[in-house]
Amino acid sequence: MDTFNTRQKRCKENAKAYLKRKEKLKITPSDAQVRSANKSNAKQAKRFRYLRKVDTRCLGDAEFPPTPATDSDIHRILTNSSAAVQPDRFIESGCAVCGRLMPLSDLTPLTEYKGLLDKLRAEGVTRLERFTSSDPICEHDGPVLADGCTHLCIECEATLAKNRVPRHALANHGWLGQVPPALKNLTYAECIMIARVRHNRCVIRVNSGRVRMHANAIMFSQPALTVY
Ligand SMILES: [Zn+2]
Repeated sequence: MDTFNTRQKRCKENAKAYLKRKEKLKITPSDAQVRSANKSNAKQAKRFRYLRKVDTRCLGDAEFPPTPATDSDIHRILTNSSAAVQPDRFIESGCAVCGRLMPLSDLTPLTEYKGLLDKLRAEGVTRLERFTSSDPICEHDGPVLADGCTHLCIECEATLAKNRVPRHALANHGWLGQVPPALKNLTYAECIMIARVRHNRCVIRVNSGRVRMHANAIMFSQPALTVY
């Protein structure tokens, strides 16, 4: 790895080369040149204004050449860079209350909010799987939570702290539960057959070639009894 002095020397050499090239090409026009171009040549004046803008943006009021990064600067940059790509910054998990997928860094363990979960008890929302038609219809005990989720999102946390049921909570008749193996990996036709509703939509193509929604989605109840 280069030492601080080597980097400083290389930086000075680069700066010297830049200034030499700038002098040779006369990149930055002088005030007199700009004034003259403003009067006579609008195109050249525009170009001069652009060059001055670029030069100001590159150099600004900063000292040139800038001092090279110190070892502590490099250490800080590398530390921040590696912290930004740690697994917990992008691994996602589900919120137990609303079921939405969120980055793990935005979730709180559910165990910290056990006392607030009683608000999520709801009747007629959940249903235990029945294997025969004679099995009784039963509901899950306890608060309505997503199976296998052990965290809580910020939004649900804030609403529960106010002793209210979150808007997107599964307890608001959004609970689906575990999908039984018999209903997993269905084909498109099978999905249509078991759907409780079928939906329709109306899309038109406009002159520009794009499509836009013309009407709201319309839901019809599926005539399952007629089909069978
Ligand atoms: Zn949530």
